[in-house]
Amino acid sequence: MTITDRFNRPVFSLRISITTRCNINCFYCHNDGIMPQDYEMSPSEIFRIAKIAKEIGIKKIRISGGEPLIRKDIIDIVKKISSLGFRDVSLTTNGTLLGKYAKDLLDAGLNRVNISFDTLNSKTYLFITKKDYLEKAKEGIKKAVEVGLYPVKVNMVVMKGVNHHEIWDMFQFCRENNAILQLIELLKTENCPDSEFFDEYRYKMAGIEKELARISNKVKKRQFMQDRKKYFINGGEIEVVRPMDNTEFCKNCTRIRITPDGKLKPCLLKNDDLVDLIGPINQGYSDKQLKELFLIAIKNREPFYKKYVK
Ligand code: SAM
Repeated sequence: MTITDRFNRPVFSLRISITTRCNINCFYCHNDGIMPQDYEMSPSEIFRIAKIAKEIGIKKIRISGGEPLIRKDIIDIVKKISSLGFRDVSLTTNGTLLGKYAKDLLDAGLNRVNISFDTLNSKTYLFITKKDYLEKAKEGIKKAVEVGLYPVKVNMVVMKGVNHHEIWDMFQFCRENNAILQLIELLKTENCPDSEFFDEYRYKMAGIEKELARISNKVKKRQFMQDRKKYFINGGEIEVVRPMDNTEFCKNCTRIRITPDGKLKPCLLKNDDLVDLIGPINQGYSDKQLKELFLIAIKNREPFYKKYVK
C-alpha cells in the first residue's frame, strides 16, 4: 500500500533528522530547512515513529541532520530503524566520522550512505566548512566503500568560483574509489545565511549536463527522483541533482520529513505546517492515533511551487 496526497503524489520516503548539531560549518547550509533545536528524539521515540511510518506505507528511510554521526547513540538508532524491515535505510553525512563508524553502521543494518564532500583542495575545504577535516572526510569515503556500504554517493554542491572547476577531479576521485558523484546545485531557502551569496555563487548545471550527455557511454533517467539523470562515463557514474526550487521538483516529491524534536514536516521549504508527534506520544496516544496524525500531515501536503501540480 502506498499513500498519496491530495495532489496524487505517492509518499513513500521519510527523512528523519536526528539532530541540528554539526561538527563542521558549511556557510551555504540550509540545515534541511530546520531551525536549531535543543530537543533530540531518543532512539525509542525514533523507533516508535518509524514503526508507524512503516505501517502507513513508508518504504525508504533516510537519516539526516545536522550531522547524524555526532550522536553517541547513532548505532542504536540505525539498529532500531533497520529492525523494522524497510526496503532501504540510508544516511547522509559529511563523512568526517565515517572512518570510525562505517563498519558498525553496516552491521547495524544501514544499506548506503551519501557523503557531502565538495572539494579535494584543503584551502577550499577550510573555506567552505571552517574545519580542517578534509583528510578525515576522504578517509570516511574510502572506509564506507571498503566495508561494503553500497552505493556510496558523494554529494558535491557546485559553487561558481569556489569548486566548479573541480568537477572532473572529483569525478576522477570518486571513480578511483568506487563512489558515485552527485552534483548538486546550490539552493536558496528561508534559513540560508546570506542571500547575496547565492547570487554570487550559484552555478547553473545546464552546461555541465550538456557536456555529460555528450561524453557519456550511457544515460539513465531515475523515475520518482525528479527524473534525475545518471551518466555513465568510462567506468564512473555522475548524477545531477536538479534544483529543488521549481514545480517539477514539487510534482515528483515523494518525501515527508521528521524534525529532531519529533514534528512531521511535509515540505523542505515550509515550516508553517508541522505536525507534532512527540507531545502526543508523551500524552500516551495509541499507534492508531499516531497514524491518524501522519495521515493528516500527508493529506495536508501542498506543493511549495504549485504551477503544474494538480
Ligand atoms: N550533515 C549531513 C551531511 O553533511 O550530509 C546531513 C545534513 S546536510 C544539510 C544534507 C545535504 O544538504 C548535504 O548533501 C548538503 O550538501 C546539502 N545542502 C545543504 N545546504 C545546501 C544548499 N544551500 N544548497 C544545496 N544543497 C545543500
